[in-house]
Amino acid sequence: MNLIYNNKKIEDWIFENIDGTSINYVSTCKKEAWLYIRKISANQLDKNIQMGRTLANLRGEDKRDIFDILKFDKIDKRKNGYVVTEFKKSLKNSNAGKMQLLFYIYLLKIANINVITGVLQSKSKKLKVEPNETNFRELEDKILELRELIFEKTPPKVKFSKTCNSCGYRDYCF
Ligand code: SF4
Repeated sequence: MNLIYNNKKIEDWIFENIDGTSINYVSTCKKEAWLYIRKISANQLDKNIQMGRTLANLRGEDKRDIFDILKFDKIDKRKNGYVVTEFKKSLKNSNAGKMQLLFYIYLLKIANINVITGVLQSKSKKLKVEPNETNFRELEDKILELRELIFEKTPPKVKFSKTCNSCGYRDYCF
């Protein structure tokens, strides 16, 4: 991620255009990300959207925001840095959750806050997300994919997959 750390313009672009949810979506489905970054609303009556909102309300007390876009769920201080936790209702789509959490860790790094590790948690299941070079390179690819989607005039073509069953944008696709 050195390219991004050292390039103020790209950093500015990130702050203006993307958030953790868009990183999660581009890691799940490019069309979902394309719709989201255009502020097209998912079906608010969808049970997964409602469940996500309920979860966000329940965990509100633990929320720590440094920037508006920095919306991880929990931060714990340790001797040599911080542990950042993101809660999910399930870990089925753990790679998208991992990218979202890495994005928050990346923003904290920009703010000179040392994160030792990230944790993706669903009930008692926990998955460690290491802030290492390989993971940040993967995150960088997702940021670049999002940047391309911003300039795409039409949504990417998609095929039905298992993920579509729990997607709030189903009505836009099938
Ligand atoms: S319904 Fe499927 S193809 Fe459409 S945005 Fe959602 S995940 Fe993507």
